[in-house]
This record gives sequence, structure tokens and C-alpha cells, in this order.
Amino acid sequence: MDAETLRDLDRRHLWHPYAAASPAVAAHPVTRAEGVRLTLADGRELIDGMSSWWAAIHGHNHPRLNAAIRDQLDRMAHVMFGGLTHEPAVRLGQRLARMTGLQKVFLADSGSVAVEVAIKMAIQCTGRSRLLTVKGGYHGDTFGAMSVCDPVNGMHHLFTGVLPSHVFADRPPGDYGTRPGAPAAQAADQAYLDHLSSLVARHAGELAAIIVEPVVQGAGGMRFYHPAYLRRLRELADEHGLLLIADEIATGFGRTGELFGCDHAGVRPDIMCVGKALTGGSLTMAATLCTAEVAERIGVLMHGPTFMANPLAAAVADASLALLDERPWREEVKRIESALVEGLAAAAGAPGVKQVRVLGAIGVIETDDPVDVARIQDVVMGHGVWLRPFGHLLYTMPPYSTGPDDLAAIIEAMTAAAATLST
Ligand SMILES: *Cc1c(COP(=O)(O)O)cnc(C)c1O
Repeated sequence: MDAETLRDLDRRHLWHPYAAASPAVAAHPVTRAEGVRLTLADGRELIDGMSSWWAAIHGHNHPRLNAAIRDQLDRMAHVMFGGLTHEPAVRLGQRLARMTGLQKVFLADSGSVAVEVAIKMAIQCTGRSRLLTVKGGYHGDTFGAMSVCDPVNGMHHLFTGVLPSHVFADRPPGDYGTRPGAPAAQAADQAYLDHLSSLVARHAGELAAIIVEPVVQGAGGMRFYHPAYLRRLRELADEHGLLLIADEIATGFGRTGELFGCDHAGVRPDIMCVGKALTGGSLTMAATLCTAEVAERIGVLMHGPTFMANPLAAAVADASLALLDERPWREEVKRIESALVEGLAAAAGAPGVKQVRVLGAIGVIETDDPVDVARIQDVVMGHGVWLRPFGHLLYTMPPYSTGPDDLAAIIEAMTAAAATLST
């Protein structure tokens, strides 16, 4: 099909994420993805500054990941996981347990499902049903996950009466990471620590768990908060007999400069969700992990998707994590971080720019007003770059394999887009 036909039929029949039935701007057909580049049907090449939503950490079309899928495909694409098991799942389970220090692994088919499973685990484990989280969070689009997303920016207003009501602490102060053009990171805010303590104490009797994205709040606003708040939540959970659920779906596997977001705080959660980069951006798979003790207390866990532990996805996830283990990701993320700090400084203080911030391989330009997505996207695509701004945010989280020139192009596209904000 040619590009025009694809665009027309797509608009007629397909929903896109958070999109109207017939969106004003049609989606861009992609015909190939190779390394950090996407090739559009009209022949244009764009640098994928989004890692296809945090996932493609090794770049696209990676030979090792492709080989893992092909090898597994020749043996079997799928078998049910009820009563059966297979080597890809076993290998992945063992590897994830080793990486996280959490013994028991539930392989789910998407991040949102992993969060549902985490919530179920907490409820089954404690016999209580309310959760405590912080405002500004994002945990997925299914009902349980939505119920702990930010109550204002999230989708609560569309589903009032359907979503369970949980306890929300104030949004953590955004006082972590590097902010070019602003004073160096502050110490943790004592008033906020006290707020967490008193809120948990007030509700402890009804709470099953505390659920947060460790250190980085992703789709809820791309904000970085001090690890001291996470440490306090761990202490409070212990003090009051609650579980701590770390949603590492965006932060996991090196993105923030540490292997997991929790590592910034030196805490271990009772339950952890991973996803997104788990398969290196190739197939959909996520996981919910818990301690042996939590698993013991749960007994029979009441969840079991049809495509649980899909062998293709498990095989490529294992290959992707092996690849991560081999690549110098700490140095790569550090290099990206330094380049973002240096390069995005040009946007700090520009008219219409509220703040520039960087943590690990995540670079954010927050704007005063909501961005005109189509207009900003035109500017960055004109620079040969693919970014997907939303709300007040223009941001990048490039593949770890992004080279210096491609990174410079991403930064150039972002600063150029920021320069057009006031025009
Ligand atoms: C993306 C994301 C999810 C949801 O994952 P899906 O695979 O999109 O369902 C949950 N939590 C966090 C922190 C995420 O970034």
C-alpha cells in the first residue's frame, strides 16, 4: 500500500493511543526501523528519540533480539502456561529474580496487567483493599491501574463511580536530577517527608500497600523526585505492616542511570512491576515480582492470562536482558545524560520554557503552556527526529545505543522546537 492509502485506511479503521476516532492529524506510516532510525513510507528517516516509549533501549531490528525470536519461533510460538512450562520462561524468571532479588515472578502481557497483578497480590496478601500513592503518577490504563494514576491529570473524571477510591499524598517536590540553568539539586523537603508520615499513619489500618513509580514520575509529568521520599515510604511501610509496590515499568533496566529506580534510594520493594524495556521493545511482555514471603502469604494467586509467559516474548526478553548485561549501559546512559545536560541548557530560560531537567537518559523541556503537538512535531521532524510531546512536555529518552551525532540532532531538534514556543 502506498503512504496515502495507509494513512486513509488507518484513519478510517484504527484507534491510536489517547486519540479521537478521526484525529485531525493522521499517523505517519513506518516501513522499517533499524538501529535508532525509523523509515517512513514517504522515504524520510527519523531518529527515534522516544525509544518507542521507553522500550527500544538497544535500538530497533537488533540481530540478537531477532535471532532469539526466530530460534524460539522454530520450536513453538506459544503454549498455555496452565500446567505447562518451557525454557524461555524459566530462564527469564531466573534472570529477573537474580537481577531484582525478588524470588517469585508473574509474567504478564503488558505493563497495565502487571500493575493489576501487583494490586491483586497486595490485596490477597494483606486482606485489605486500599492503596496509598502520590499525585502525579501514571500506572497504566486498565481500571485498577487507572485508579492510582493522578486523580486530576489522569482519567478519573471520565470514570467517577467506577474507580475505587485510594489515598493520595501530594505530588512529590521535583527536586532530583540536573536542572540546567537552575541551582543544584536541593536536599529532601522535610515538610513533604512529614506529610507522607502523617498520611500513612492516618490511613494505615485500611491500607494494603503503597504504590509509586520510584524516583521518576513518567507519563504523569516526567518529574524526578528525591530518593529520600522513597526511603521514607519504605520505612513507613515497614512500620505499619504495609507492602511497598515499585512500578519500575518506565524506570527499570538502566534508564535513570541505575539498574532500577529503587537503587537511587537503596530500597527493595516487596512487589515490583517491570515492562516496557523488558523485551527491548520487540514484543509485549511485563512482569510482576514479589518476595518469597509475600508469595507465601498469598497462596493461590487469582490471575492467569491466556498468553501468559508467551515463549517468543520470554525468549526475546531474556536475550534483551543478556544484551543489557553485556553492554556498558552505565557509561552509555552517563554519556547521554551529560550531552542532554549540556545541550538542553540552551533551552533553559527561553520564553515559554518553564524548566529543563535531566536524569539518566531522560531529557525534559517543560513548557509554560500546553504544547501544540502537531506544530512542535513538524519542527522536530524537520530536524530528522521523532519525538512525541504531550501536555506541557517535550522530552526524549533515546536508545542507549544512540551515537553522539544522533544525540546532537535530537538535542538540536528540541532546542529548535523550544525556540518556537513564543512565536
Ligand atoms: C507505560 C507504563 C505502564 C503501563 O504499561 P503498558 O504496557 O502501557 O500497559 C505502567 N506504569 C508505568 C510507570 C508506565 O510507564
